[in-house]
Amino acid sequence: MISKILIANRGEIALRVLRACKELGIATVAVHSTADADAMHVRLADESVCIGPPPSRDSYLNIHQIVAACEITGADAVHPGYGFLSENAKFADILDAHGITFIGPTADHIRIMGDKITAKETAKSLGIPVVPGSAGEVKPENALAIAREIGFPVLIKATAGGGGRGMKVARNEDDLSEAVSTARSEALAAFGNDAVYMEKYLGKPRHIEIQVVGDGEGNAIHLGERDCSLQRRHQKVWEEANSPALNVEQRMKIGEVCAAAMRKLKYRGAGTIEFLYENGEFYFIEMNTRLQVEHPITEAITGIDLVHEQIRVASGAGLSVTQDEVVFSGHAIECRINAEDPRTFVPSPGTITHFHAPGGLGVRVDSGAYQGYRIPPYYDSLIGKLIVHGRTRVECMMRLRRVLDEFVIDGIKTTLPLFQDLINNQDIANGDYDIHWLEHYLAQPSE
Ligand code: ADP
Repeated sequence: MISKILIANRGEIALRVLRACKELGIATVAVHSTADADAMHVRLADESVCIGPPPSRDSYLNIHQIVAACEITGADAVHPGYGFLSENAKFADILDAHGITFIGPTADHIRIMGDKITAKETAKSLGIPVVPGSAGEVKPENALAIAREIGFPVLIKATAGGGGRGMKVARNEDDLSEAVSTARSEALAAFGNDAVYMEKYLGKPRHIEIQVVGDGEGNAIHLGERDCSLQRRHQKVWEEANSPALNVEQRMKIGEVCAAAMRKLKYRGAGTIEFLYENGEFYFIEMNTRLQVEHPITEAITGIDLVHEQIRVASGAGLSVTQDEVVFSGHAIECRINAEDPRTFVPSPGTITHFHAPGGLGVRVDSGAYQGYRIPPYYDSLIGKLIVHGRTRVECMMRLRRVLDEFVIDGIKTTLPLFQDLINNQDIANGDYDIHWLEHYLAQPSE
């Protein structure tokens, strides 16, 4: 059994994990860089350890310091949150070697899903539908033959990919060799690995992802989907569950495909299987072997605390529910509140001079921000997440409009005004958008 968890993260997700630990009666250790000494997750944890200077590589990514912090405090498990070390197989191995429980999947499963080609092959072998594409790596010499077989347009993607880097579209044969060489050099620069592969390029897909949880012994369930099509530069901005594009049968069908795959894999922990969805078909793009930023909308419609489940399965207690016991109820939307200009997305660090979080039925604010909090410039600009739940999508949208009017964050720029615009947009009201919609919308001159 786990008695003390070290949370190897910062910001809203550190706070989120801390809350679950407290509910389960588990002691908490916060770690922080010198820039985060007055952060909320540090204030609320039972103990805290400073693990280094502001740059992430010296603190939140410093495995040495984190393991030392576990040993000093006697923490018997680590929750990695998302980002940072959450998908680092070496970190999972090192904790294992020290007898510390990593709250997540096995290092092997992290490795498999961390390499895009292996992930795709594994997904295919587990019965998950994948995007038609090259069987393995694409080289300048075999690119044309493979592209002809798949059919143009095609997308060249980095095997080590992440954050949409090293990705290039080739619309026709003339574009191809340049797309391959640019993708390879971008991949080399970003990931130190120039291997690329090829996929059919989908024109107007939605991004739909399935939440799964497994106990590592061959039991696994799905908790439905999230629609994360509203993105800017491959960064999700607004997410909803359920997807406005799916009906119950489609949801349960793809959910069961994913749960069955996770049972076969004996997957342990929470995971997300991401798809592009076009013309009624799902195409696997990747699996994230960790908690996602947008997990609270799934919690809102199922009532299941995903961090509780992660901790349960990591300690060998198994899942708290069977698939039959999962009940989907209502609709939830998450808005990511970033400390950024709402039109240009230029980061806006600084001091929050006034902070008022909205409340009321169906409202959840996950944020480490508070009045007087100084946002350090070293980390990503997500300062909070607003999650709204309603019995129907219409009720959820009406509530979101009210809640956005109530939210006050002064002293810095935030993306709140963007959501106030989106909530009044007809396409959004109709749920009629694909992964390019937001970029097109933002490219229009604002009134
Ligand atoms: P990364 O790990 O770099 O984020 P993903 O494979 O998750 O790469 O893809 C990121 C985004 O790129 C997707 O959400 C989608 O917007 C776009 N994308 C990926 N594959 C395709 C494809 N085959 N066709 C069209 N768009 C794609």
